[in-house]
Amino acid sequence: MTEKLIVLGSTGSIGVQTLQVARRNNIRILALAAGRNVDVMEQQAREFLPKMVAMQNETAAQELKIRLADTDIKVYSGEQGVLETVHADADTVLNAIVGIAGLKATLETVRSGKILALANKESLVTGGELVKEALKQYGGTMLPVDSEHSAIFQSLQGVPEGALDRVLLTASGGPFFGKTKKELENVSVEQTLRHPNWSMGQKITVDSATLMNKGLEVIEAVHLFDLSPDRIDVVVQRESIIHSGVVLKDGGLMVQMGVPDMMLPIQYALTYPNRLPCSERLDLCAIGKLTFFEPDKETFPCLSICTKAITDGGLKPTAANGANEEAVALFLKGQIGFTAIARLVEGAVAQQSSGTAVSLESIFDADASARRYVRQHFSQEAV
Ligand code: NAD
Ligand code: MG
Repeated sequence: MTEKLIVLGSTGSIGVQTLQVARRNNIRILALAAGRNVDVMEQQAREFLPKMVAMQNETAAQELKIRLADTDIKVYSGEQGVLETVHADADTVLNAIVGIAGLKATLETVRSGKILALANKESLVTGGELVKEALKQYGGTMLPVDSEHSAIFQSLQGVPEGALDRVLLTASGGPFFGKTKKELENVSVEQTLRHPNWSMGQKITVDSATLMNKGLEVIEAVHLFDLSPDRIDVVVQRESIIHSGVVLKDGGLMVQMGVPDMMLPIQYALTYPNRLPCSERLDLCAIGKLTFFEPDKETFPCLSICTKAITDGGLKPTAANGANEEAVALFLKGQIGFTAIARLVEGAVAQQSSGTAVSLESIFDADASARRYVRQHFSQEAV
C-alpha cells in the first residue's frame, strides 16, 4: 500500500481526484507536477507541502517560484523538471498527464523502481513495448487507473494463470450514442463535452464521444494484459455500471460493478491489494436494469481504426494517437468538424509505414509525422 506518493498531472481531473484519495487515506505527497495551471498548483502545494513541484510551462514555473518563495518547496520547470519530480522519495508515481507528453515520465518512473499507477493511457498506446521492456528489466510494477482496466485487473484477482479466455471492455457509448453519421456532422464542441456518465478532462471527453477512447483502451489492454487484440470484446454498457471484466476458460464472466466514479480505481491502484472504504454503495434496485449494445463501428470509425492499428503493430498506434491529439485540439478550437477527427486519424495511420522498429526516437518521429499530416490536411476539413 502506498504511503508516499508523487502525482503527475495533479491539476487535472484525475490529479485532483487522486489528491482527494490521498487526503482521505493520509497518503503523503512528496512531489507534484503539471502543465501550466499556477493557481491550482499553488493551492495544492500549500495544502500538501511536497518537497518539490514542477510546471512544464516555463512561464508558469517562474510565476509559481515567486508565489512559493515563502516555503521550502523546490520549484522545477520544463519537461526535464517534470521528470525530476519522479525522483522524490516516494513508493508510487501516479501518472495523470494527458497525451504522449506522459510517455517519458512513465518510463522514468519504471526506471526509478517506483510503482507506476497509470492513468496516462497514451503512454502505453505509443510506448507499450518500451514500457514493458523496462518493467521486465527493472522488475517494476504497473497498476492500472483507467476504470475499465482497473475493473479487468480486479476481476482477475484470484484467477489462476491460463484461465483467462477473453477480456470484456465496456463503453458508455458517449453523448452521441444512437446518432447517425449525418447527425454527427454538425454537432458542436459544447454537445461533445456533455458526457452522460463521467466528468473528465476535455481531451478524453472528446475521445469518449468519437469512441477513440475505447480504441485507445483496446491498445492499452493489449499491453497491460498481454493479449492479442482479437481477444478483446467491446460492448456498450449504457449506464456505466459494469466497468469491464473477463471471460474465463469455463465460460464464467467476472465483472466489476460500481457507481461511475474514478475514486475507486484511483484508490485501488494506491491501496492494492487492500480494499478500504471509498465510493457510495451501488443500489441495484434503484438502477433497475442494465442495457447492452454492440458498438456502432460504422458511425464511430475510430474504434476499428485503433484495433487495426494495434493488429498491424509497429508505429501505427503512435500515429493514431498523435493524429488524434492534434485533431482533437483543432476540433476544440472550432477549426474542424466532429467527423473530421476520424478521417484525419485514418489518413495519418495509413501514411505511417508498418515496418519501422519501435524506439523512443522513432515513436516521437511517428508522432510528429502524424501531427504534420493532420496540419497539412485539416484545411480540407475546415468548418
Ligand atoms: P486533464 O486535462 O484534466 O489533466 C491533465 C493534466 O496533465 C493537467 O494537470 C495538466 O496540467 C497536465 N499536463 C498536460 N500536459 C503536460 C505536460 N506536458 N507535462 C506535465 N503535465 C502536463 O486530463 P484528465 O482527464 O485528468 O486525464 C489524464 C489522463 O488520464 C489521460 O491520459 C486520460 O486519458 C486518463 N484518464 C482520465 C480519466 C478521467 O476520468 N478524467 C479516466 C480514465 C483515464
Ligand atoms: Mg476508461
